[in-house]
Amino acid sequence: VKIAVYDNNRVGVVDGARLVDISDLVPGWDPKAPSVFMPAFMTAYAALAPRIRERLSAGPAVSWETVTLRPPVPAPSKILAAPVNYRAHQAEMTVPGAVYEGWTLHTVAHYGVFLKPPSSLLGSGGTIEIPFADRRTDHEGEVGVVIGRQGKDIRPEDAWEYVFGYTGVMDITVRGEEDRTYRKGFDTFTPMGPWIVTTDEIPDPRDLRLTLTVNGQVRQHASLRELIYDIPQLIAVASTRTTLFPGDVISTGTPDGVGPIRPGDRVVLSVEGIGELTADVALAAGEAWPRPPVR
Ligand code: MN
Repeated sequence: VKIAVYDNNRVGVVDGARLVDISDLVPGWDPKAPSVFMPAFMTAYAALAPRIRERLSAGPAVSWETVTLRPPVPAPSKILAAPVNYRAHQAEMTVPGAVYEGWTLHTVAHYGVFLKPPSSLLGSGGTIEIPFADRRTDHEGEVGVVIGRQGKDIRPEDAWEYVFGYTGVMDITVRGEEDRTYRKGFDTFTPMGPWIVTTDEIPDPRDLRLTLTVNGQVRQHASLRELIYDIPQLIAVASTRTTLFPGDVISTGTPDGVGPIRPGDRVVLSVEGIGELTADVALAAGEAWPRPPVR
């Protein structure tokens, strides 16, 4: 099932062109408290699934004309993301002429995973606001794993039991020397969606393929089979001595083809079997302070 959050944190299910409201089936649904009702919904999902499927086939469709998509997990306890996790991307960033020429870029084995603040989330159809006109800001198309069960110290062989579903993620990034959390944590820097696809619709997530375009031109295209650290390994690393909660998202890293985005661009991340996550790009209004050094 495809689960979307839209408008005033309403919850819906999507089937082809149909969006059907299921907010009344979500335990404790409260538009002001998505950090409470989404984890509760995910925990109760297996028991609710028959009624949700019934509603999906028989319920009235919501008109897309008036819908604003929200991030499918509007208020997760955390968003974790993998640093370099594709060999071709590791290479492209350090070759002569590249932004990190001469550096050594390590992988999860060296850096572990990093945090992106939930305040950086953006729903599909939103606008990425570039904070500094004179610094390079890049797109990173990724697949996000949505956690469905609380867990800690999860072993790779048990990891699939903790997955609720999958969604598209853009890990928007200002290049430079500051901490990743700063450079990747600005408001609007984590477009997510367009919705979550539950695990029952994705027989083998290693078969997921992503394509990212800017203004219709393909920039990134890859299969999750190319991941250096696969999904079970990422869950194991992310949960080491750290509690994962339902609704937490682990973004799996970006393949090669990373490049700059500029005001006026339209970025589309499509993941086969999930859908299209769209974002426009604009310059943030007003002067940023302090002015970080330009790399
Ligand atoms: Mn990334």
